Amino acid sequence: MPLGALEKDWVFHFCGMIDRYLALDGAIGSELQQSLTPADAVALLKDGVRRSTSGEASARDRAALLSDAAGGQYPYAAVLSCIDSRAPVEQIFDAASGDLFVARVAGNVASPDLIASLEYATKYAGSKAILVLGHTRCGAVKGAWAGLEDGHLTGLLGRIQPAVTVTKAELGEEDSASNLDRCSTVNVQETMAALRKESAILAGLEADGKIAIVGGVYDVATGEVAWVD
Ligand SMILES: [Zn+2]
Repeated sequence: MPLGALEKDWVFHFCGMIDRYLALDGAIGSELQQSLTPADAVALLKDGVRRSTSGEASARDRAALLSDAAGGQYPYAAVLSCIDSRAPVEQIFDAASGDLFVARVAGNVASPDLIASLEYATKYAGSKAILVLGHTRCGAVKGAWAGLEDGHLTGLLGRIQPAVTVTKAELGEEDSASNLDRCSTVNVQETMAALRKESAILAGLEADGKIAIVGGVYDVATGEVAWVD
């Protein structure tokens, strides 16, 4: 049975932030979103991975989520991730409708439309964290490593070249799985740096303590996320 308003207030007041999130019947509302700090939003992402990998994935009421969605959206974080079919963002973070903005592009690169999407998600829609999420066994990273040039892929893969250059200088030219996975990590770092360098809005929000910009690499074999400094 859904909680009444007074009971909800009691639960919100006495439970921790993650408990408040887990106590939701439907979608995240403005009150919860705005009460979160950037660190809270990152903690929610990390707890989502824990739930997903430990068999504790939540099952929120779909009808309540749909009905709340009509009233607006208040996602706690935005994720910039690859298009890879083995990296389903909402499943990775045990997220429901209304929880996350998700911007997906091969190689999770910071191209202008993706940066604009993240500016909207944070400055205008109130999300408290941006996660740049790479993953192991990334085909875009492999293509960039090999210097693939074809159609529109040429420009896209060019955005991964800074990470390829750094990783090859560190580990050599061999396209081993471990070298390519290391390149995915470096590519996340490069994308985070590009967001700060190319977006005055995002850099300003981070400097003012209004958002966190964090990175991670999803392991397609284990479902875990290795967090990236
Ligand atoms: Zn990928």
